[in-house]
Amino acid sequence: MAISDHVDLDQFMDGVKRRNPGETEFQQAVYEVAVDIFDYIADKEIYHEAQILRRIAEPDRVVSFRVCWEDDNHNVRVQRGYRVQNNNAIGPYKGGLRFHKSVNQSILKFLAFEQTFKNSLTGLPMGGAKGGSDFNPKGKSDSEIMRFCQSFMTELYRHVGEDTDVPAGDIGVGAREIGYMFGQYKRITNRYVGVLTGKGIEWGGSLVRKEATGYGVVYFLEDMLRHAGEGLEGKVMTVSGSGNVAVHAAEKALQLGARVVTLSDSEGFIHDPDGFTREKLEWVKRHKGHRRGRISAYAEEFKGASFHEGERPWRVPCDLACPCATQNEVHADDARLLAKNGLKAMAEGANMPATNDAVKVLREAGVLFGPAKAANAGGVAVSGLEMAQNSTRIAMREDELQSLLRDIMQGIHGRCLEHAQGPDGYVDYAKGANIAGFKKVADAMLAFGIV
Ligand code: NDP
Repeated sequence: MAISDHVDLDQFMDGVKRRNPGETEFQQAVYEVAVDIFDYIADKEIYHEAQILRRIAEPDRVVSFRVCWEDDNHNVRVQRGYRVQNNNAIGPYKGGLRFHKSVNQSILKFLAFEQTFKNSLTGLPMGGAKGGSDFNPKGKSDSEIMRFCQSFMTELYRHVGEDTDVPAGDIGVGAREIGYMFGQYKRITNRYVGVLTGKGIEWGGSLVRKEATGYGVVYFLEDMLRHAGEGLEGKVMTVSGSGNVAVHAAEKALQLGARVVTLSDSEGFIHDPDGFTREKLEWVKRHKGHRRGRISAYAEEFKGASFHEGERPWRVPCDLACPCATQNEVHADDARLLAKNGLKAMAEGANMPATNDAVKVLREAGVLFGPAKAANAGGVAVSGLEMAQNSTRIAMREDELQSLLRDIMQGIHGRCLEHAQGPDGYVDYAKGANIAGFKKVADAMLAFGIV
């Protein structure tokens, strides 16, 4: 009899907690997947025998390293850098780099674990990884950012490569940081290869990458609504965050006829009951992008809008919600209020923005819920296309990429649906995404034997 015959979900989670003490985000992410997978593999002995879930929940490798740099006042600063390579059963490791003061091993392990299923769902050959540093880019000069990025890559370069592990951007890492890191990689190795994605268009980047995550989230929302016999037209939508994912989600929702009424940052949210227009969103992009301003300034710039300090947007009544800022920003109380106010669907733009308790509330209230690993996979999908363009040294046209992104999101929606049957006819996308993402990785791992 296999050892795992004796292990139920609680025992499995006890083991995860024992092996990863204090890593609450990682434990939360594993639990959220394990709940559905335990059910799915109950009668599939082959996955039990090979201990597949236990193996996916143990990263292939966690690298952590010292990053020293000098600030503008010649003080020596020391940060910690990481790369978590979770699983490469179906392709080279792939996942973003996050520079934020909250970064720690638990957060990066959760993100790398999630990325494994997300990348699998895209249908493209990519494994799962994540990395970053507790470096806080806020208030740093351009030279300080450059020196930090160069020092970070001076260690990272030995762990990555175009067929090994291809990092990208995430919170705090945009085109500027990718540029400094790519420049340093090229300088150290003397090789011009697609080792990073999210590059500038002139030096190997892909069109549509910038928009892909936010646009993809709204496509997924559109597909969920369409499957339920509804559409985006005329719906009121709340969005949190005001970074790359948030502004592009708002932009696509606006194009498809929704009225988007909120955005936020770490200081609070803005409410514009009239809804954003293209011009207003362009202002936000300029203000938050190059000028790195605060979202509160929006309320001073545009009449009728208000700023709510220290709050998140979830008390604003809406039909649709897209949390696009960070993990654990929608709690059970928020979910209850959203459901009470008539929420029809939520699609996660950020990674794990809704807590497990919040997701439970939404499921019980019959609200359609698009989990991050499905809904925000458009970004990594176009990164996969950037890798393909780099390997072939051919750049795709914008219309080709836009249409591929739309197809990929539709494919993800379809893959989720195959396993999404919930109680009373509820379409359980979270369960569907977990099972569909798991199956491809698990079957590849079975083919490789015990490694
Ligand atoms: P950005 O750095 O461009 O923007 C992040 C936004 O979230 C900012 O508005 C920021 O506010 C806000 N934010 C960050 N931390 C917090 C916090 N602790 N509390 C409240 N607000 C916060 O990042 P992205 O838009 O790229 O990423 C947003 C989310 O989407 C992340 O979860 C990321 O992992 C996920 N994601 C991103 C992808 C991409 O292609 N970029 C792909 C898939 C997922 P402030 O300006 O005040 O810091």
